[in-house]
Amino acid sequence: MIRFDNSYARLPSGFFTRTAPTPVRDPSLIAVNEELAADLGIDAGWLSGPEGLAMLSGNALPDGATPIAQAYAGHQFGGFVPQLGDGRAVLLGEIVSPAGQRFDIQLKGAGPTPFSRRGDGRAWLGPVLREYLVSEFMAAMGVPTTRALAAVSTGEIVIREMAYPGAILTRVASSHIRVGTFEFFAARGDTERLRLLMQTVIARHYPQAKGALDLLDAVIRAQAATIAHWMALGFIHGVMNTDNMAVSGETIDYGPCAFMDEYHPDKVFSSIDSRGRYAWSEQPQIAVWNLAQLASCLVPLMGEDLEAAVEDATRVVHTFPAIYQDEWLKRFAAKLGISRPRPEDRSLIEVLLTQMAAQNADFTRVFAGLADGTAAAEFADPAGFAQWEKLWLDRIASEADPKAVMRRANPLRIPRNHQIEAAISEARDGNFALFHKLDRALRTPHEARAEWDALSLAPTPDEVVRRTFCGT
Ligand code: AMP
Ligand code: MG
Repeated sequence: MIRFDNSYARLPSGFFTRTAPTPVRDPSLIAVNEELAADLGIDAGWLSGPEGLAMLSGNALPDGATPIAQAYAGHQFGGFVPQLGDGRAVLLGEIVSPAGQRFDIQLKGAGPTPFSRRGDGRAWLGPVLREYLVSEFMAAMGVPTTRALAAVSTGEIVIREMAYPGAILTRVASSHIRVGTFEFFAARGDTERLRLLMQTVIARHYPQAKGALDLLDAVIRAQAATIAHWMALGFIHGVMNTDNMAVSGETIDYGPCAFMDEYHPDKVFSSIDSRGRYAWSEQPQIAVWNLAQLASCLVPLMGEDLEAAVEDATRVVHTFPAIYQDEWLKRFAAKLGISRPRPEDRSLIEVLLTQMAAQNADFTRVFAGLADGTAAAEFADPAGFAQWEKLWLDRIASEADPKAVMRRANPLRIPRNHQIEAAISEARDGNFALFHKLDRALRTPHEARAEWDALSLAPTPDEVVRRTFCGT
């Protein structure tokens, strides 16, 4: 059983609609995240049993749940949509973990809500398994992220380009409040609810913040750190719309996301991002753009003097690049084994990245190979790398334990797109063995094990996946 304490559902009307999950025909368990369950104080045995399955599939409401669909708006690919909201997700409630942290428990794919518009409120197996694997890998790498508590199949069919098996992901987040949640009330000129939302976010995520400007500053810092983490793993979110940006700083809404194999800064994977708005190298600028939207929402809460408020908010938004650059340098320096980076380390990193791009080197394998002396093999023309390597070895000669620093920063394995696609394809035939193998292997991405060696390999040319489809 779960002890719920549903603070969001106690907010006044306008923040959500009460919506129960729609039962499914024939649910079965795909995975339960026992480690996460333990951290949350949930009995994994109960969760895997009949009552747990009934909850995870939306077939029974556990005691204390007050299911809601949250309202939010958002800028999608730059265009404002005043009403989005949870169209295929239901928030069952919140729990406070044994460590005293509050978490949302949400079913993604739980059936239609008043925000579904023309959608069916459902998810299919592919996006559910992708989010499960990728979000748990991110957590294993220490990246702020929502988590996956469970995945179930529904025994129903979901129609997209064709018929697919339906599934539901149980997502855990420190909250699901988005930049788009602020935009929802700001666009309606509802300053009263906007202020209440701000107070809610401050109390829940940034208790030290004294007001709207402080909150903006805190979200900017959190996002700068998260995006730097993404960049250092070669991660491309794919749909960085403001409704997919959590104010907690957690990575959220894994849709057509992917990690790069061959390094190139312009990489895009999402099938719906035809113009490359959310390419890997664009992500920091897009974050600033999104945070500028948050800033303009918060301006009315910054005091009587509107002009001064706009000036303050603008100044704070403009701090993002410097904060981000520091985070970036810290992350990429660690990838080279440098624990206290100096400004000139930036060009050392950039020279390596330029060589990698010119030679289509595999992002993960180059960095993982630095600690083992196998990185040169990733370059078609190792001479340039050898030159760089001399400079690099000079630089890290004074570091206390560069290999340990590198091994922490550079995973041996990432959730490679072709592996995820293979796991999804087998799962569609009812075989979850590869999914479970990836799940286990990606929880300890630094650990070398013979049975996992093949998972470190880059895709062969015909294994390469060029597009990933939207998370619907
Ligand atoms: P996304 O950008 O994929 O996170 O989704 C954008 C909006 O579309 C959100 O309001 C979602 O709730 C909604 N949405 C996405 N897929 C579905 C679906 N299958 N049924 C209903 N609403 C959906
Ligand atoms: Mg979304």
